[in-house]
Amino acid sequence: MQNYGLYINGEWTGQNLEKIEIANPATNEVIATVPRGGHQEAVQAVDAAQEAFKEWSQHSAYERASVIQKWHDLIEENKDELAKTMTMEQGKPLKEAIGEMSYANGFFSWYAEEAKRIYGETIPATQRNKRLFVQKQPVGVVAAITPWNFPAAMITRKVGPALAAGCTVVIKPANLTPLTAIKMVELAADAGIPKGVVNLVTGDSKAIGQAWLEDDRVRKLTFTGSTEVGKELMRGSADTVKKISMELGGHAPVIVLDDANLDKAVEGVINSKFRNAGQTCICSNRIYVHDTIYEQFLEKLVPKVKELKMGNGLDEGVDIGPLIDEAAVKKVKKQIDDAVQMGAKIEAGGEVRDGLYIEPTVLSNVHDEMSCMIEETFGPLAPVTSFSTVEEVINRANNSIFGLAAYVFTENISRGIKVTDALEYGIIGLNDGLPSTPQAPFGGFKQSGIGREGGHYGIEDYLEVKYISLGL
Ligand code: ADP
Repeated sequence: MQNYGLYINGEWTGQNLEKIEIANPATNEVIATVPRGGHQEAVQAVDAAQEAFKEWSQHSAYERASVIQKWHDLIEENKDELAKTMTMEQGKPLKEAIGEMSYANGFFSWYAEEAKRIYGETIPATQRNKRLFVQKQPVGVVAAITPWNFPAAMITRKVGPALAAGCTVVIKPANLTPLTAIKMVELAADAGIPKGVVNLVTGDSKAIGQAWLEDDRVRKLTFTGSTEVGKELMRGSADTVKKISMELGGHAPVIVLDDANLDKAVEGVINSKFRNAGQTCICSNRIYVHDTIYEQFLEKLVPKVKELKMGNGLDEGVDIGPLIDEAAVKKVKKQIDDAVQMGAKIEAGGEVRDGLYIEPTVLSNVHDEMSCMIEETFGPLAPVTSFSTVEEVINRANNSIFGLAAYVFTENISRGIKVTDALEYGIIGLNDGLPSTPQAPFGGFKQSGIGREGGHYGIEDYLEVKYISLGL
């Protein structure tokens, strides 16, 4: 079993600190330890990042691009091992972990290119003797706090644009799943990332978070996780007026119109609902099917869900791994029980299995007052309800504090566009259950977050705009 360290200023340190045990959710076996860093280590990481910023921010875009690309290439070479580590710490099936590594690394290759396109602007002046220019500069030290459900991609989606912009970073991966991040960071020095440009601290979330919030040198905080913690971090960022990016919870509606291709809709629901055992913030959370095709939809969905194979993500052919921890299992089970008590019918699954497994579950006869239709589920539970008019379903879909992803299935593209226009969501999968990709903006309306990650939008939050007025 390996005891990992903290990565500060190009050194692996912290081996003398108390340790956090990292367990495999499929077997409950402890597979590694990481140090329980705190306030002091968090400050040391900022010291290093602040010092390194002086030099890194002066590298040309082409120099930065080449280093990020090299890091990408080393990750690609080590992809299988990284994916295996991810499955062992997080539980997702190996094929999904390999998929996540490609998606994650896509942010590095995309932002390596985007570094070269941080354009400025000239603005026509009102006076003849003036010239007005705009240029963009890196914000400075960036703190990145990431969740456990995408141990690689949530890191690269933040670190890619930060480094491309010329920022340096301090990272705190989730304590449940720090190993994939650590193994990626182990490759950074070989890629030519200078010391102090990337730092990683594991440990006491509150103490580390607090140290970064109160530190004026941290100019930007980028966070992915729960809405509750996101709000806390937003409040904490106020005193030092940091730039913030927040990717928070979701509660994605799926709308299946009466002219949908049902096979496509079922496939889209399976992809978006059961990926990572339902533990993604864009997982479909509530499924609205037009009442004329409701029965037919269930007849197609239920057997497909029953075919999904549950088990240890390292085993061949597994589609659904364990949930991340006991609390996650309890939350999903509580939603199932609550729905059944209020009249829902279990069409598939519904049971907790030994360990941290919940059977992939379909509920019918669902109504909007059940907790699964209001609270984020983060588990393999698909509640299906019906609607009769488009106007009604849009109102029900928008009736949420969240606004991250929504899905619409229809073969009539102009109806699809009208529904899309009316949805208060940042990401729409129109006949597509898997919309995430590095070159497109990811983020939410309402309490699902602030800012966008991915695509050319994703680099803006790491840049300050500097306006220069030149008198001739
Ligand atoms: P999740 O349910 O996805 O773990 P959390 O919001 O609980 O969502 O955690 C996301 C990340 O935020 C994790 O890295 C966690 O350790 C960190 N975190 C949790 N609470 C705090 C806090 N008070 N300050 C800073 N980071 C925190």
